[in-house]
Amino acid sequence: MSLEGRRIEIRGTVQGVGFRPWIWRLARENGIGGRVSNDSRGVTIEAFGGDGALQSFLDGIRTSPPPAAEIREILCLPIPPEPSGEFVIVPSRQTGDLRVSIPPDIATCADCLAEIFDPGNRRYRYAFTNCTNCGPRFTIAREVPYDRRATTMAPFTMCAPCRAEYEDPGNRRFHAQPNACPACGPTLSALSASGEPVFWKDPIRGAARALSADLIIAVKGLGGFHLACDATSSVAVERLRRRKRREEKPFAVMVQGIEEAESLAILSGREREMLLSPERPIVLVASREGSGLAPGVSPDGNPLVGLLLPYTPLHHLLLCDSGRPLVMTSGNLSEEPIVCGNDEAVARLAGVGDGFLVHDRQIESRCDDSVARVIAGGPVLLRRSRGWVPRPIAVQTPFPEPVLACGGHLKNTFCIGLGSAAYLGPHIGDLENLETLAVFEEAVARMERFLRVDPQIVAHDLHPQYVSSVYARQSRTGRKVAVQHHHAHIASAMAEHSLAGPVIGVAFDGTGYGTDGTAWGGELFLCRLEEYERLATLRPIALAGGDTAIREPWRIALALLEDSFPEGPPLDRFPLFAGVEEQALHVVRQMLRRRFQLSPARGVGRYFDGFGALFLSRPFSRHEGQVAFAWNMAADPAETGSYPFTLDPVPSTPELDLRPALRAAVADFLSGASAGAISGRFHNTVAKGAGALVRLAVERSGCTPVVLTGGCFQNALLAERALGELQDLPVFLHRRVPPGDGGLALGQAAVAGALARSGGF
Ligand code: ZN
Ligand code: ZN
Ligand code: FE
Repeated sequence: MSLEGRRIEIRGTVQGVGFRPWIWRLARENGIGGRVSNDSRGVTIEAFGGDGALQSFLDGIRTSPPPAAEIREILCLPIPPEPSGEFVIVPSRQTGDLRVSIPPDIATCADCLAEIFDPGNRRYRYAFTNCTNCGPRFTIAREVPYDRRATTMAPFTMCAPCRAEYEDPGNRRFHAQPNACPACGPTLSALSASGEPVFWKDPIRGAARALSADLIIAVKGLGGFHLACDATSSVAVERLRRRKRREEKPFAVMVQGIEEAESLAILSGREREMLLSPERPIVLVASREGSGLAPGVSPDGNPLVGLLLPYTPLHHLLLCDSGRPLVMTSGNLSEEPIVCGNDEAVARLAGVGDGFLVHDRQIESRCDDSVARVIAGGPVLLRRSRGWVPRPIAVQTPFPEPVLACGGHLKNTFCIGLGSAAYLGPHIGDLENLETLAVFEEAVARMERFLRVDPQIVAHDLHPQYVSSVYARQSRTGRKVAVQHHHAHIASAMAEHSLAGPVIGVAFDGTGYGTDGTAWGGELFLCRLEEYERLATLRPIALAGGDTAIREPWRIALALLEDSFPEGPPLDRFPLFAGVEEQALHVVRQMLRRRFQLSPARGVGRYFDGFGALFLSRPFSRHEGQVAFAWNMAADPAETGSYPFTLDPVPSTPELDLRPALRAAVADFLSGASAGAISGRFHNTVAKGAGALVRLAVERSGCTPVVLTGGCFQNALLAERALGELQDLPVFLHRRVPPGDGGLALGQAAVAGALARSGGF
């Protein structure tokens, strides 16, 4: 047997995920000598052995990486053989580029799970059990490189057995930075509603008992507090809803395992896979009838439920002890940022929780649960946060210098572009109050520190009044780039899919500031990263009273009717208007007719609001998009019909005109068609409208591919129908980056990077 040598470089998420010990074991199994080390770009292996052994070693790397690792690329070069001795793990060189060193948080692995339920194990029922394959990472990291001293585990000194595991390359806990056990690691405690210590012998059992008695417990997790209650108890769920002032938005439900998930919802193979993935997102799935969940969990007739599986030992133990599915919703009031400190929790959640289950390991980074759903047979991230942050998104063309993109207004995330990577930050929330702005600034500063950058290119939304735009202009130095909202949406899809452009971009959402100062949101662009041409848009709706119309979508319905029936709409035939005060109705009608205090809005989302209000007879939205979502959920997916529309060549930019569709839908309604049928036809119509827009663009420009982006493409039915209309063309949906405003920052960064590269500013 002749000895050969290979240098193997592996790129991707390969650090802090148990990669080197796994390589070490794989090398031993195959009789390979040499070494493995971390470097700035990933992991490098120098392997020596016979040809066959090297081949099976490589095959092993390709086929069975650790669960939380993500291999993007493997490079393999022959090198001169060395007489091989042992295979060794070389300590990381702490010089140079340390940028890739913090991995995302990883759900508890099967081995650790077995230990915490094994009465004979020293980690039996230990809530902070972890190993190199699992455990907290990003949320405990304080500094780079990712190393115990630079995490919130620093105050805990490993005991001798833990230290021995940590130093043994053959052990699953070799260099597991948060390694801990009951003798040396963090501990749990319980607090009363007012923050006084409660002396329960076993805080998890105590909390489980309280939960069974319909109480609400604030539970400290990985990236913040959850508010937990019994998801099968209407009393508990209503109490939580009242105290949290969470209007009518659905609550996520944590279940003990996949079997319990199956008993509550109908799961496809993909959905099961997503629920079980080490990132452990909340997955939106179809509720099973008679599931036993309290109706208040997904109120408002919502047929979907957001399920997630436990992702820390604490969750596993709590779910096991309480023996029922638990609501696990972000510990905050309404739209404020998620609470993460113990004192902060007691202060801010006073009056919400009946008690607190806390621990003494600090959360360094707030990081909400991620949310995903299956659309057109594949996963789509609707909120990209815990489990993914700070894993970078590889971009095709490197950023010429570091870029900070500040994101949008709602569901804000930011993004830092550096080299060929874009780092999206955690979900921050709606930038509508000072608390959220403070959290945003803190999170940006931390990510800059982790990446060792001080970006002098700062991208923000074109809207001059967005808090994120004001932050960019007033709190930052460097060159500022204002990026049009829908340009950013399309660029985000381009960056995600490594599309150099030009592309045909369809951006359908609620609202985004246009270059003419009005609200856009039904946009067709011929788009490059540096620039775009607006090929078509949607006929605007007159919003009477501006944003009031978004909370009172009956105003939008009325505007649509007035626009479509110039001879006067048959208002008395719609139960919707019986729910509106006569005086208000009169005033808004006058406003519409006299064109007084109207703002034109082109968002596809506004058509969902208007149609939903009219045909579901729902005058008011308790939160943004509530009626639009209900209209989506009302649709009968078996419906194949659609309504007519026209594509009007208005002076320069053609407009998709849905007035014929409204007239046809009204005729349907008056002849007794069901809301489900009308909504189904409406969805098909909007999809066909998107199809017609794309064909117009392809004819004019000869350009493909097509990207579908914007919050409306979180609507699975709409996205699937639009894909159906465009079957013969290459079309991209978002997958790993949210189609809504949570993905905006990536697009802003990509645009700013491209402009800087081309000397565009
Ligand atoms: Zn583990
Ligand atoms: Zn220990
Ligand atoms: Fe948007």
